[in-house]
Amino acid sequence: MTDELNTPSIEVEVNSDNKCDLCEGSKCCNYITQEIDTPRSMDEFDTLLWQLAHKNNQAYKDEDGWFLLVYTKCQFLQDDGRCGIYETRPQMCRDYTNDYCEYDAPAEEGFELFFDGYDSLLKYCQKRFKRWDTRFTAE
Ligand code: SF4
Ligand code: SF4
Repeated sequence: MTDELNTPSIEVEVNSDNKCDLCEGSKCCNYITQEIDTPRSMDEFDTLLWQLAHKNNQAYKDEDGWFLLVYTKCQFLQDDGRCGIYETRPQMCRDYTNDYCEYDAPAEEGFELFFDGYDSLLKYCQKRFKRWDTRFTAE
């Protein structure tokens, strides 16, 4: 295979040693997750809806429970994709493995439920609770 300049392109075998170097933008350094109590009532979903009304917030449920997903770039992520505090980075970063990560597939693929923002959660609430749209006016 050749690229646009008609020079041979080199296939790089991706492995756990070079994967992070190849990962554009260091995907896993651009968000945080926070486990939340499983929402059950309309009030609890209303609170989650308020959280997703804020930009860059998403939510998901996977085999470990419910999580708030906040897209916010780590202040220590350097322009070259490396960690600016590598030697003293938090334990959460040390524990994260690149064996199978966002480089390999979007995290959403492993979610049982995924709400990419306010609108998708609202639709879910309207489907789950028949009284959702009248919850503020019903007696
Ligand atoms: S662990 Fe995965 S997502 Fe994070 S920088 Fe490495 S390859 Fe990218
Ligand atoms: S501290 Fe370093 S490894 Fe951890 S999220 Fe920030 S840039 Fe990434």
